[in-house]
Amino acid sequence: MDPKYSAPRGTADLTYPESEKTRQLLSYAREVFEQYGYQLISTPVLESTDLFVRSIGENTDIVNKEMYTFEDQGGQMLTLRPEGTAPVIRAYLERGLQSRGLPQKLYYYGPMFRRERPQAGRYRQFSQAGAELIGSMDPMADTEIISMSADLFRKLKLKNYVLRINSVGCRECRKEYIADLKAKLDGMVPDLCEQCRKRSSGNPMRVFDCKNENCVTVLEDAPVISAYLCEHCIEHYHTVLLGLEILGIDYFKDDRLVRGLDYYTRTAFEFQFEGLGAQNTVSAGGRYDHLVEELGGTPTGGVGFSLGVERVLLAVEAEEAEPFELRGVEVFVAGIDIPGVEILKALQVIRDAGISADTDLMDRSLKAQMKHANRVGARFVVIAGGEEHQRGEVTLRDLEESEQWTLEIKEALSLIKEKKERGL
Ligand code: ATP
Ligand code: MG
Repeated sequence: MDPKYSAPRGTADLTYPESEKTRQLLSYAREVFEQYGYQLISTPVLESTDLFVRSIGENTDIVNKEMYTFEDQGGQMLTLRPEGTAPVIRAYLERGLQSRGLPQKLYYYGPMFRRERPQAGRYRQFSQAGAELIGSMDPMADTEIISMSADLFRKLKLKNYVLRINSVGCRECRKEYIADLKAKLDGMVPDLCEQCRKRSSGNPMRVFDCKNENCVTVLEDAPVISAYLCEHCIEHYHTVLLGLEILGIDYFKDDRLVRGLDYYTRTAFEFQFEGLGAQNTVSAGGRYDHLVEELGGTPTGGVGFSLGVERVLLAVEAEEAEPFELRGVEVFVAGIDIPGVEILKALQVIRDAGISADTDLMDRSLKAQMKHANRVGARFVVIAGGEEHQRGEVTLRDLEESEQWTLEIKEALSLIKEKKERGL
């Protein structure tokens, strides 16, 4: 078949089993968030364009070239959200969540949109799950945010990752640093790629995000923020690291780690996985002490992170971690020369007992029905019809154990339940 339409480039359809793995992944994530006392928040997929320009920053890749922005019929400029933090802070302010008491601990999940070059682990529509801790300046808040990723990875049986961490300083210590960095970069301009040249004047710290090998080498001579951190930032950073040590979370201090969004202050971190090629950052975040103010609130600290759901799944695959249970339907009801209503009744009895059940619905032979039972992953088959049906009985087959019984449907149900409960 030659389909007439295809999904837009960089987007995907999630079908079984990926759809099911994604659902289970999100339920693990939700478990972690709830264990830490975070509450679900859901914001629109559309926001006013200004919100992102203001928060993410004008000289960032996202705002410069990756946003899906359009003018609607009413002349409003709208953007499909490229990330989740700015919308959450917007909602925090608009709904007056600070009045419920601080800190506010919120988690979210959902699709994000960035017009990037699609490749493995990089899509134009992707899913993030993330959390924001708003209102606390305590370094323990940073540690908590970081440790949620580590907890999730443990649940998912993932091991091959490193946590890279840095402090990108505060407004105060960054002033002198940026001036020095700019001066140094000016002298390097002929050796830098075009993008880094632009960054060196507009948003100099972003040069450290360049993947170009030549730039990476040249930038080895550039000053790093760690040498410029003020006393308060150093103390904060040390306490975050101490917290990680207490929790047994290994980290690697990377003083060239910067984030793609302008609003980060102090802590910045990334969890990178082996075996994922260039798109190896699975979870990332940091502190944003000026964002709330930037969006119109009173000065309020915050820290958060977000993880790429597709990339987590790629990591699970790469490590062959198998944290998911893919189970089909429990019982398949097959019929031999029996009216459909009888099957319908049997199905209802089974489903009412809390056991999942399916049937053929295609008017097939018993052999073909058995094949279909296999396809839907059923462990048990209840065969209704023939002489047994006359006697009010059915045949129950346990496909896993290759056993078979003839008994009343009620007894069949008890047997299935017993096997299920005892994990037999
Ligand atoms: P990268 O350096 O890979 O571009 P980023 O710094 O742009 O990532 P963030 O904005 O911090 O990423 O988003 C958090 C997480 O969301 C990333 O660590 C990644 O797992 C995921 N993510 C970001 N962009 C994409 C994308 N285009 N496709 C799939 N996942 C993505
Ligand atoms: Mg990016």
